[in-house]
Amino acid sequence: MSNYIVKIIPKHEKTIPGEKERNAIKNQMRLMTVNKEISEQLYNEVTFIDSGSNFEGIRCNHCMTYLQPDWWAEQMDTKSSNQFNDLSIISPCCASALSLNELYYIWPMGFAKYVIEIMNPEEDEVIRIEQFIENINYKLIRAHY
Ligand SMILES: [Zn+2]
Repeated sequence: MSNYIVKIIPKHEKTIPGEKERNAIKNQMRLMTVNKEISEQLYNEVTFIDSGSNFEGIRCNHCMTYLQPDWWAEQMDTKSSNQFNDLSIISPCCASALSLNELYYIWPMGFAKYVIEIMNPEEDEVIRIEQFIENINYKLIRAHY
């Protein structure tokens, strides 16, 4: 059986929200969903938060050029050898100083030390969550496995 997991992470990869903020967000998630399994993870290191099989390419967030998956995979290799502590890159298209975390992933993905996961939500629940996190400094990742 395939799974659909909605993941919510702080926009900046090193942000670790305090307990009070984490509980407030989890409570909101429970209010916006019905009987869904909600879990959270805290990581010691910056961790790649993937979108599973949802992948349709990556564009430069500066000039919107499509980036080669091979170039991206190479950057991932280099950055992972340093536990993703430094995500700064120079884009191959327009030589801009950017972050791997801020590239335009057509299916969003990112890097984080904290993630909240909601298992198999309904689409109307996801839309509510999306609207909620627009007002806080988080982003939403839709992962299919
Ligand atoms: Zn560019």
